[in-house]
Order: sequence, then structure tokens, then C-alpha cells
Amino acid sequence: MKILNLIHGQGYIARIESQSFVDGEGVRCSVYVSGCPFDCKGCYNKAAQNFRYGEQFNNDVLEEILDNCAPDYIDGLSILGGEPFCNLDITLKCARAFRERFGNGKSIWVWSGFLFEYLAHENTERRAFLELIDVLVDGPFMSHLYRSNLPYKGSLNQRIINVQASLQQACLCEYIAT
Ligand code: SF4
Repeated sequence: MKILNLIHGQGYIARIESQSFVDGEGVRCSVYVSGCPFDCKGCYNKAAQNFRYGEQFNNDVLEEILDNCAPDYIDGLSILGGEPFCNLDITLKCARAFRERFGNGKSIWVWSGFLFEYLAHENTERRAFLELIDVLVDGPFMSHLYRSNLPYKGSLNQRIINVQASLQQACLCEYIAT
């Protein structure tokens, strides 16, 4: 099956970190979904390329994720992979439930191998997921562009994008860390 048609995933999560200090700004709950077709050389999470790695996602797991996000000291939810945009049965459901419970009071950060421009022009559930995100770190990991000191990303080609501003202004707005 082609990468572009891999949308819903198999419903597996590689791991959940209830308190992460590195996946975005502040203290965050991080969810790593399973399954990624990009197969980047030097992938930091090779095991999670398998769409059936880890534990199966269900409503109990969703509640656990939301409860992890609830304390005041948690700034938001981070969704990584695997590929979040090839696992929309999990990621879109999480993002919608997160917005229902927390509104815009907490943020959603997502890491994806897809480029923002592609996702923004997808007239599908991928676009619906994108619209719920605050910050997108986009593009595949490229080992020859790896630098050890890049905040929130692994290689120089990746971009940290303010999604809402970019969608509203129809151009790419870099996210400025506070
Ligand atoms: S996009 Fe991320 S998870 Fe997927 S292969 Fe590349 S580095 Fe690994």
C-alpha cells in the first residue's frame, strides 16, 4: 500500500510518557504511536515503525492520556511516532477528545515525516487533525543533516511550525519558542 493511503494505522501505541520534559515546551504527556512507513536512515525509534508494536489503543488508554494531561503543571499533549498522520484512528481521536476536555488552554505538539504544505492541502482527515494542532515539527529525519543541539528536532531540514498562524495566513509561520 502506498504511504499516502496509510491513514488509519493498526491502532497500536508504542509508549506513553506521563511527564516529558523534552517533547515540546514545558512539561507534557507524550504519546508515541506505532507504525511509520518513512523508514528514515538513522530513525530514533525503529521499533515503532512496526504498525503492531506495543499495546493496543482503546478508550481506557484514551482516558489515561487525558488524565495525564489534566494536572495544572502539564502544558499539553505531544504526539510522536511512528507517524501520527498514518495513525488517525488514534491521533485524531486523541486530539478531538483533548480539545473537548481542555479547549485551547493546553497545547498539542506533533512530529511528522510529512511536510506541512502537503498536510495543509489534504482534503481529508489529515487536514482535520492538522487543524487541531498548535505546533508541528515536520519532515523526515535526515541523518546527514543531524545535529545534536537542535531544540525539538533531530535534523536541520525539519521545521518547527506555528500551525494555526500558518493556516490562517496561508503561509509558513515558524514557531517562536517562548
Ligand atoms: S518519520 Fe520519524 S518515526 Fe518515521 S522513520 Fe522517520 S524518524 Fe522514524
